[in-house]
Amino acid sequence: MEILAGQGGFVRATPLTWQQQVSQAVRSPLELRRRLGLAEDPPSAGESAASRDFPVFVPLPWLNRIRPGDPLDPLLLQVLAVAAETEAAPGFVPDPLAESGLQPLPGLLHKYAGRVLLIAAGACAINCRYCFRRHFPYESALTGKPQLQAALDHIAADPGISEVLLSGGDPLMLPDGRLNWLIEQLQEIPHLQRFRIHTRLPVAIPARITDGLVGIFQSSRLQSVMVLHSNHPRELDGEVQRAMLRLRKESPVVLLNQSVLLRGVNDCAETLTGLSLRLLDCGVLPYYLHQLDPVAGASHFFVPPEVGLRLVEAMREALPGYLVPRYVQEVPGEASKTPLA
Ligand SMILES: *Cc1c(COP(=O)(O)O)cnc(C)c1O
Ligand code: SF4
Repeated sequence: MEILAGQGGFVRATPLTWQQQVSQAVRSPLELRRRLGLAEDPPSAGESAASRDFPVFVPLPWLNRIRPGDPLDPLLLQVLAVAAETEAAPGFVPDPLAESGLQPLPGLLHKYAGRVLLIAAGACAINCRYCFRRHFPYESALTGKPQLQAALDHIAADPGISEVLLSGGDPLMLPDGRLNWLIEQLQEIPHLQRFRIHTRLPVAIPARITDGLVGIFQSSRLQSVMVLHSNHPRELDGEVQRAMLRLRKESPVVLLNQSVLLRGVNDCAETLTGLSLRLLDCGVLPYYLHQLDPVAGASHFFVPPEVGLRLVEAMREALPGYLVPRYVQEVPGEASKTPLA
């Protein structure tokens, strides 16, 4: 369904911009339940605490994909704050990847050889309840130009860096002009060969694939890679598909996807197989299936690795090899993501 401004009548409807769609996102558990025909009890103390800590934020294209009246809908479970988030669980901590100690500068993570990760934006267009950065101090995101300049200087001074990952938050929350400026700065660093954008925005709001964004990918001298984030085949509706196919057709960007294995969302062989096939329909190849990072507030999404391994085995039996993602875990201190075996 296309999201239109104006309410029918004789008004010629114009599609909302992606920024307008961000500003119209649903921001409370009660409103979310009301829109979906679910029980409209006032939020419990736990629910309120959870959404105070990490606000509910659901854009309308996502909301429209949730089955009304189904409290267990896998798309709903990813975005609705629940009391279980406030329960302590052993091993689930605020900074599970120990990222706070790995920043040569605020907003720049240099963990792996050859590539650095730049926190290019502090916000997202959707708040995923399992997010491993839900407690990240986004005040330290590189939002100001002086801080960004310091990060660019750091990259320019280290010829060992060949790839810059833009992450966040969601780096596509930056307006096209700002993003273009950043990519242009990166292009001027002679030893850089690639940039990569890790984003959920084209899934949350497909209108984010603007002419301007396609233009950025078309014109860069750097090889570009986009790593999408989706977890369930129903996230990838016709609009997401059109947006991704257009991007792929009109620019040289390489399109990949990462997922997180989540209880109640995609811990089922049929769902994961369906996700890979649906990604292919969208011109996107599966890259990583992540074991959940043990972040405080997300323990109810935990799937034991033995179960994950069985699921990946089932995918391997059902799919061509290029549609089976690498099942990995992030272990603090390791030189790369760690394959689970
Ligand atoms: C995951 C990650 C990367 C990228 O790893 P790849 O295996 O190349 O996808 C780079 N830097 C940081 C800090 C990361 O967490
Ligand atoms: S879009 Fe990514 S960074 Fe943002 S809340 Fe979701 S998982 Fe976290």
